Amino acid sequence: MPKTLTITPELHAYVCAVGVREHAALARCREETLALGRAAVMQIAPEQGAFLGFLVKAIGAKRCLEIGTFTGYSALSVALALPEDGTLDACDISEEYMTRARGYWAAAGVAGKIRDHVGPALATLDEFIHSEAEPYDFAFIDADKGNYDNYFERALTLVRKGGVIAIDNVLWSGSVVDPTVQDDDTRAIRALNEKLRQDPRIEIAMATIADGLFLCLKR
Ligand code: CA
Repeated sequence: MPKTLTITPELHAYVCAVGVREHAALARCREETLALGRAAVMQIAPEQGAFLGFLVKAIGAKRCLEIGTFTGYSALSVALALPEDGTLDACDISEEYMTRARGYWAAAGVAGKIRDHVGPALATLDEFIHSEAEPYDFAFIDADKGNYDNYFERALTLVRKGGVIAIDNVLWSGSVVDPTVQDDDTRAIRALNEKLRQDPRIEIAMATIADGLFLCLKR
């Protein structure tokens, strides 16, 4: 028996069928986003949504931050897991995607928990830092890879001690271990992974869920 499985489409379907309780609004978001074609790869996997929601509940998070909202699947997964007085600040550059996302949040009855911020996320995060916003319990980073390190640094400033930062796509379809792949995004992800490995400010765990999720707990 291998220690690590190669996830076949059949196994993935099984994980989604047995290990995920997907809210109807999440299912609709996923299905309608698939119809967008190429951009749909930016959507997180259902088992990842379940994982993020689980994590939020497990650490008792009340204040959450998301960098890269797309059509709202991850934000909805988090918002559904939050208590009634929980909040999520969701950042995305695209008004078009945010408009779609708002529809799913409203359909699920959690729009009141989510504050959306359309614009370059670095500016939004700097605003949070300068306004000395109350610390966050949880942050999810899933946006342009070239800025991953910048997002991580700001998220680390914004989360409380013991807070968790989850970073998506850290295996980048496996290209992190392919030396022939040297594009900017791949190099940025490799550099951040290596930095996180050595970063004394955090505890780490790299989860092989979906395209790789780096979990960082602020010391
Ligand atoms: Ca992603």
